[in-house]
Amino acid sequence: MLIGILALQGAFIEHIVMFDRIGVKAAEIRLPSQLEHVNGLVIPGGESTTMLKLMRNFALIEPIMKLAEKQAPVWGTCAGMICLARHALNPDSTAMETLGLMDITVKRNAFGRQVDSFETKLQIKPLQDGPFPGVFIRAPCIEKAGRGVNVLAKLPDGEIVAARQGNLLATSFHPELSGDPRLHRYFAAMVKR
Ligand code: GLN
Repeated sequence: MLIGILALQGAFIEHIVMFDRIGVKAAEIRLPSQLEHVNGLVIPGGESTTMLKLMRNFALIEPIMKLAEKQAPVWGTCAGMICLARHALNPDSTAMETLGLMDITVKRNAFGRQVDSFETKLQIKPLQDGPFPGVFIRAPCIEKAGRGVNVLAKLPDGEIVAARQGNLLATSFHPELSGDPRLHRYFAAMVKR
């Protein structure tokens, strides 16, 4: 089993380190041909506009869509979640073009300037053994989730920050920076199945 980590921009190395820690093979992906060998894909945090532009330039959009259509698990963290979303709204409420795979509407930079970055404990549905340290960095939130989407975690104010729709997993925060490998284990289990 091999998990690909989209390595165009952003926090991809941290994902590789985390999978390494739990004994799961992960490889950096920069070329379409490298996607042929993976069983699942992580789209990391970073800058969603830059990442989508690079995906286009490197001809990665189609092969990523195909991978998802084949029901291979795809996990978007932070900017990666924005890329996965069917609808994404910029801070000025204009729409942004995305991969459009997951039936969620996300809002970019959903938390005001004062709370640009913060860490908070999250209750994540499928995870046992207590709360998860959520590291939020200029994070998006899920404003709307479609019927087929299972909400996995919310902030106390009700913002949805983790969700799953079949083979698609989305988290607003950065689990690869939290030191807690439980979500990486959870995703690895999705890929194994
Ligand atoms: N603010 C970034 C964006 O809108 C996401 C930030 C992140 O991935 N930490 O793309």
